[in-house]
Amino acid sequence: MADQPLVFDYSALPREFKRRYLPREIRFEWDDLKRFFEELGRRRLGSSAELERWLMDEAELDAYVYEQRAVRYFNSTRQTDNPEYAKAYEEYTQLLEPRIKLASFELLKKYAASPFRTQLPRRTYGLEDRRRQSAVSIFREGNVDLEKEDSTLSQKYFRTTGAMTVTYRGQERTMQQMSRFLEEPDRAVREEAWRLSSQRALADSETIDNTYTQMIALRDRIARNAGFDNYRDYIFVKKDRFDYAPQDCEEFHRGVEEAIVPLSREIDRARAEKMEVDFLRPWDLAVDPAGRPALHPFKEIAGLVSGAGKVMSKVDDELSSYFERMVELQLLDLDSRKGKAPGGYQEELAEVRLPFIFMNATGKDDDVRTLLHESGHSFHTFLLSEAKVPFFNAGANMPMEFAEVASMSMEMITGEHYEGTFYDRDDAKRSNWKEFVGNVKLFAWVATIDAFQHWVYTHPAHTPDERVKAWVSTFNRFCGLESYEGLESSRAYRWQRQLHLFEVPFYYIEYGIALTGALGVWSRYRKDPKGAVGAYKSALSLGCGRALPELFEAAGVEWGFGPATLRRIATELRSAIQEYAE
Ligand SMILES: [Zn+2]
Repeated sequence: MADQPLVFDYSALPREFKRRYLPREIRFEWDDLKRFFEELGRRRLGSSAELERWLMDEAELDAYVYEQRAVRYFNSTRQTDNPEYAKAYEEYTQLLEPRIKLASFELLKKYAASPFRTQLPRRTYGLEDRRRQSAVSIFREGNVDLEKEDSTLSQKYFRTTGAMTVTYRGQERTMQQMSRFLEEPDRAVREEAWRLSSQRALADSETIDNTYTQMIALRDRIARNAGFDNYRDYIFVKKDRFDYAPQDCEEFHRGVEEAIVPLSREIDRARAEKMEVDFLRPWDLAVDPAGRPALHPFKEIAGLVSGAGKVMSKVDDELSSYFERMVELQLLDLDSRKGKAPGGYQEELAEVRLPFIFMNATGKDDDVRTLLHESGHSFHTFLLSEAKVPFFNAGANMPMEFAEVASMSMEMITGEHYEGTFYDRDDAKRSNWKEFVGNVKLFAWVATIDAFQHWVYTHPAHTPDERVKAWVSTFNRFCGLESYEGLESSRAYRWQRQLHLFEVPFYYIEYGIALTGALGVWSRYRKDPKGAVGAYKSALSLGCGRALPELFEAAGVEWGFGPATLRRIATELRSAIQEYAE
């Protein structure tokens, strides 16, 4: 994709959705935006029809703001070395976002106070109404400053971890760059790389420990201010978790422990045997157990794009036409180059209702998975756009528990067609083996992180020593067979490298819930591809005005992530992994 212009030509995108409320010309500055927030705030709402009109106008304003933010975000991540782009995004987060948040909350209160809200059509507005009521009920003026303090502590955590580098083979490298060496066939290389990274992380463990202690106290205060006994109970309301309770998460932990952990340990046993080692060490988990060099699915970005297109055309014509449209409109920025931010994401341009995919491909197996994963998110954006779902029920507001079903299941079902596109028969199996072993390990890790957070926030007065004890026992409950002998302190502080604990507390179980759904879609796809894709598409067209169980059922999968579901999933995963290992 060398000839793709670096400047994102946003103005060239087709605008099929006409504005009804905002004028054609508007500047993304507070003086301009303020007028619309104020008009919405002043407007007299004398009937349910007027309230409905008001909600649609507010949604149009929200979509505009969301899109403008996204454009600034794309530019700043695509060219981190362009100071103008960095400045534009910073201006948004520093100057605009706080004002928009406050102004939006005023509108939220206006909505909640309207007597006509109960007369709106339930099918479109029911869940949105519930979300708004719930947001108003837990809002406390006094928490605004505490939340600001919380995000300052988050930034402190990122400064500490962002500054972590090690010198290896004469070069200064980030922790992310170091993780690549864990795939090296030479065990001594892996060990050295692992130890270097681990020692570097441990050097800051006390700083991070202190930051976390402060965060926990702060979050506990926020919860108590809002009338909750603890931060866990508060966050369930805050995150609109209407369809499951903390006890359901505990059942998930139990299900993982009973059904998934034994499978995870079987996988490790087979790995140790294949690698001919007496016991595994933490640096033995990412490498190919047969000692083969890494997979190379494509050489250039063009190969990645055409391969992905071929794979998608085997899954479904409509979905593959969406991908072609993204190529055509240059909504993909896939190659890794200097000045580009790390990682990958899919974002929605909310007004034009088109998706954009960003990633850093270098020719690895993971790159193929990432592109197909993000494409699943993009299909969601396209299908919601076709369905013309109002913005508050559209993709940008989709709960992660379902958004990740769209992406994870696409990642898995496209894997059924790797043979003859990216790989020969053996390499296709190898790639799928890695994917499904990864799923087993992901379930276990999600349970570890989630169970740890449940403990942390229901025991807010704990000491740092007690925290480490709780972590180690949680870790041991779900871990594989790797030995930490002599590496006990690395294990004791391993949680410090999971940024979610700091940045987005309690956000992690969503991956576990979505994975149960995605595996359901994939499992049906193997027996009934047409039926599975049909259900996938109709579920993705519904929007987030529907409750999670309804979305799951529309996708043809059962809602539920307790021991019974996990036992069934473990059986399927075991046989798939055996099949791919042959
Ligand atoms: Zn995703």
